[in-house]
Order: sequence, then structure tokens, then C-alpha cells
Amino acid sequence: MDLNNLTVAIVGAGYAGATTAKALSLLGANVTVYEQAPASGEVGAGIGLRPSSMDAFRRWGMLDAITSVSTPSPSFEILTATGELIMEMEWPEKHELGLTTHLIHRRDFIDALLGVLPEGMVRFGYKMTTVTDLGERARLDFENGESVEADLVIAADGISSLVRRQIFSDKPPVFSGEHAYRAVFPIADAHGLVTDDKFRMYINELGSKLYLLPLGRRGQVSFDVTVPSDDASWAPALTRETLVAAMAGFDPRIEEVTRTLDLGIVNSRAAYDIDPVDTWHTGSVALVGDAAHAMLHHQGQGANSAVLDAQGLADALADAASVAEGLALYQARRKPITDELQRISRSGWDAAAIDDVFPGQHQDESPVAS
Ligand SMILES: Cc1cc2nc3c(=O)[nH]c(=O)nc-3n(C[C@H](O)[C@H](O)[C@H](O)COP(=O)(O)OP(=O)(O)OC[C@H]3O[C@@H](n4cnc5c(N)ncnc54)[C@H](O)[C@@H]3O)c2cc1C
Repeated sequence: MDLNNLTVAIVGAGYAGATTAKALSLLGANVTVYEQAPASGEVGAGIGLRPSSMDAFRRWGMLDAITSVSTPSPSFEILTATGELIMEMEWPEKHELGLTTHLIHRRDFIDALLGVLPEGMVRFGYKMTTVTDLGERARLDFENGESVEADLVIAADGISSLVRRQIFSDKPPVFSGEHAYRAVFPIADAHGLVTDDKFRMYINELGSKLYLLPLGRRGQVSFDVTVPSDDASWAPALTRETLVAAMAGFDPRIEEVTRTLDLGIVNSRAAYDIDPVDTWHTGSVALVGDAAHAMLHHQGQGANSAVLDAQGLADALADAASVAEGLALYQARRKPITDELQRISRSGWDAAAIDDVFPGQHQDESPVAS
């Protein structure tokens, strides 16, 4: 369909909202993004942008905006807690797409995404309070008293999505039984742990993990500890004792980081996801990103899925004869993939899961379509 006269209101200016705005505006849609925060903000942590996401950026003509603030990574290693190599994989689809995974700081990523959107497309300080499905249009009401109507409302409002709760599912997010403690600091303070651009995961028999993600372009490393815990508070208090105990018995250099790290820069979060949502769309409202399929971080696919939703939604609308048909096509193409990613992300990374996801530990095997 021709998107030139289509008005689109997007709730949320995270990765899903920003990429959907980019993809739909390139097709001519008249897009506005409404973000509750007064300005863009992100936690200190790194993420990996998979080849499939990099391919989307190339299609959108913004590859340079991403590569100029990220670092190409050759491969991904899984190691025992004390550093013995269990397996090394090249990033799936690297050769087919001619692009590798890029490691990036979350702040740099959102700045790059918002930086390629036209001035005024994103409106900060707009907290949506009510969404109303009017059939062929939908309305958003905001806390500041304003309202808008659009042909298409895209809910990119994250794991606790109000749009999802008001229209699609009132099931709350699910606690994983894990905490994640994340910090970004200079590679020089990593006690020799970081000497290249490989992404590494260290894991012990209790399921405690360290994700070590070099941010070479910044001269920093993202240090992400994930440990079992039964405390479900969203932002649990973190003590030195807890952090040190979490990595006890790991490589001595990892233990040393936990003893010396400035606790003031550590972001502490309980890990949550959601159960798959049966339906992602009506005739004029659709879910994207974490609002549709928040998943645990163990496969590093949350941000990538947001990017691929944006691409998938734009392609589906372009291929369809109407908005309603396009939204149905989008769900049919994307939901089976994200349902599976939610499932394997929940299964974590014990030895059985490694075998499930990478059968035979083949170097080039893709975990699932990404
Ligand atoms: C520390 C960390 C590390 C991660 N690492 C990786 C990784 O390596 N690879 C990966 O692929 N994924 C990773 N993830 C997951 C990834 O970050 C998420 O999947 C991704 O942020 C989802 O993007 P989103 O835009 O859907 O949601 P969000 O990023 O949550 O954005 C939602 C936006 O909507 C806004 N909003 C919410 N409610 C309203 C409202 N009522 N009105 C207006 N605006 C509203 C919010 O303020 C926010 O800006 C990580 C997550 C975290 C926290």
C-alpha cells in the first residue's frame, strides 16, 4: 500500500519506537513519536547489534551513523567461570550479509537512532495515559491534557506497555529468578581481561554468568553479571558482598573487578520478560519491540528484535493492500520468530541449553532466524 497519506503515532522513543519511525517515514508516512521522558536517557551498558540489524541500518541508509559509534566484533565465546573455552562461534549470518555484529553503548545507539530522525518527529514529555481503538483510527490521550488521532498507533512503550495492558493482555511481566548488575568502565580497569573485540560469556555450574562486551571505540568495557536471586524487586539494592559473592570462584581478574568496581556506576535490575502475547494488533493499533515480546537478555536479542520488528512492519505494510492486512502480515511473519526467541532466552545458558541452541556446537549455526 502507499503510505504517503498515512498518519502514524508511535508511543515510546526507545529502540523500537525510533527504528519504526525511521522505517515508516522512509516509506512516506507522516510519523510522530510521543515519549514520556523529558529527554532521551539510557542505562550504562553495552549491547550487540547482530548482522541482521546492521543490514536493516544499511537498508535505511544509516549504516555509517551506527558504525561510526560502534565496534565490529569477530565472534562470540562461551567460557567456563575460570576461563576455559567451551565454544567459539562466528556471528550468525555474518557471511551471508557481509556484515558482522557491532558492539555499542546503549547511549550511543539511541543517540544515533534519534539523530537520523527529522527535527520535531519526536516529542518528549508526552506520557500516554489512554489508548482508544476507534476501528480504522485510534486515539491517544496524554497526561499533559493533549490528545491525538492517527490512522495507525504503534505501541513501542516497552516491557510494561500500557497499550498492551489496555488493549491486548493484562498479564504482568514475569520475574526470571535472576538479577543483572551492569557497569561500563575503562578497559584499563579490567585487569587484562579485555584484549580484543570478541564478546565473551563466562558461566559457572550454578548458572551465574558474566557477559563481557568490549566497547573498543570508547576504550571501555560493559561488565554484566547475571546471578540467580529470589528477590523480585525491579531495582534491587546491591552491596559489595553480593557482587563479590556473585563472581566468587570466577577468573581471579573477574573477582578483582568485583572487589574494586565503583558501586555507584552499577545498574542493578531484576530480570523480567513477558509470556507470548496472543495478538499484537487490531485494525489500527500494533505492538512492537519489548511491548510485544520482552525477552530475557541471555540471547542478546531484545534490541535486535525491536529493529527487525520495525523492518518487518514497514515491509508488511508496503506489501499489503490496507493497514489491517499489513498488521496481520507483520504478526504472521514476526511472531513465530520472537515466540521462539522468548522461549530460548528463558531457557538460559546451562549446558543443556547450549546444546539445544547450538546443536553439535557448529561454528556457523544460527540459533534461530535473527
Ligand atoms: C542493560 C540491558 C542490556 C541489554 N542488552 C541487550 C543486548 O545485548 N542485545 C539486545 O538485543 N538486547 C539487549 N537488551 C534488551 C533491549 O535493551 C530491549 O529489548 C530494548 O531496549 C527494547 O526496546 P523498546 O524500544 O521495545 O523498549 P524500551 O527500550 O523499554 O523503550 C520504551 C520507551 O517507551 C517509553 N514509554 C513507556 N511508557 C510510555 C508512555 N505511557 N507514554 C510515552 N512513552 C512511554 C519509555 O520511556 C521508553 O523510552 C538489554 C536490556 C538491558 C536493560
